[in-house]
Amino acid sequence: MGQKVDLTGRCLCGAVRFTGTATEPKVAACHCSMCRRWSSGPFFEVSCENASFEGEDNIAKIRSSEWAERAFCKNCGSNLYYHLIGSNEFQIAAGLLDDQSGLTLSLQVFIDEKPAFYTLSDRTETMTAAEVYAAYAPPPE
Ligand SMILES: [Zn+2]
Ligand SMILES: [Zn+2]
Repeated sequence: MGQKVDLTGRCLCGAVRFTGTATEPKVAACHCSMCRRWSSGPFFEVSCENASFEGEDNIAKIRSSEWAERAFCKNCGSNLYYHLIGSNEFQIAAGLLDDQSGLTLSLQVFIDEKPAFYTLSDRTETMTAAEVYAAYAPPPE
C-alpha cells in the first residue's frame, strides 16, 4: 500500500468542512453517466478513511443506488462525496481538498461510458463498467 495522507477540505461556501486520511495519495476519475450528470464531467475522488465533517446541518444526502449515497452542500451545491452504505470509506470529491499538490491521477473507472468529447491524457489504469461490477458489486440478480 502507498503512504497515507492527512487531508483537509471545504465546500465552495465553507459551510461544510472536512478532515480525513487518504488511504493513498491517489485520485480516481469516474466516467459513469451518474457521476457525469452529478458533476458535469468525470467525478474526481480520493478514497478516504476517518472522514469527519463539520457543518453536518448543511449536508444533504441522496441515495443514488441501493448500495450508495452521494452528498452535497445544501448552501452552495458543492459535491462532497460518494459513499458505499455500511463502509468506512468515503470517496471525497478531490476538488474540495485544500492541498492537491501531492495527488496523482491513478485510475479511471467506467472508461467505456466516457463520452467522446474529452479524454484525460494521464496514463492510468482503467476499468470498464463490467470490470467495476465484477470487482466491487454483488452480481446482478
Ligand atoms: Zn457549501
Ligand atoms: Zn460514477
